Amino acid sequence: MAKEHVLLIEDEPDIAEIVQYNLTREGFGVSVSRDGQTGLREARTRKPSLVVLDLMLPGLDGLEVCRQLRASEETRELPILMLTAKGEESDIVLGLGVGADDHLTKPFSPKELVARIRAVLRRSKARGEAKQRSRLTRGPLTLDSERFEDLVNEEPIELTRAELRLLWALCLRPGRVLTRNELAEAITAGEAIILDRNVDVHVSAVRRKMGAAEDLNVTVRGVGYKCRE
Ligand code: CA
Repeated sequence: MAKEHVLLIEDEPDIAEIVQYNLTREGFGVSVSRDGQTGLREARTRKPSLVVLDLMLPGLDGLEVCRQLRASEETRELPILMLTAKGEESDIVLGLGVGADDHLTKPFSPKELVARIRAVLRRSKARGEAKQRSRLTRGPLTLDSERFEDLVNEEPIELTRAELRLLWALCLRPGRVLTRNELAEAITAGEAIILDRNVDVHVSAVRRKMGAAEDLNVTVRGVGYKCRE
């Protein structure tokens, strides 16, 4: 199997060195960028398996790098693990809905970082495989995008096309906050006939239909929604 390549975007040389050393030892290929602009360019050209992204960077900060990676088609699915310093509340990073897959607060142990990276890579791989399939299962919920046979605890539920797309988008990325805008795009999926983009209305309808599985969907106040991990 080809080596997984990690792009580290971090301006603090000490941290960069420790991370690079430990990841290399664990068998990862590693490259380091010292600022957001360079990191963004590297992410586009080198196509790493994952990006470890520091929040506070000179020039373009981590949030902006994250936003730009998510906004571009070719890097949209690139897994991102965000590094935050103590005091920069991790909730802020996730709550902003910029689309990081996970985050870690400094100071962290290299062992913890490696474990998180592996977990994010695993989830991203599972997501890629699920995309190929037409069936997706999360806890008590089973979605079927081809046959429209959607189940909660083996009991059929009737979802509209928009509701199915919304749930599918959330369930593909458990733990990641999706903004209303991202969900609206998932719902309409570029169709000429614009389905109702009112995400909140679809979410309420889905929740009613999900019954016992309702708590899979979590509201992140002011931002959007996520599927519980
Ligand atoms: Ca920094």
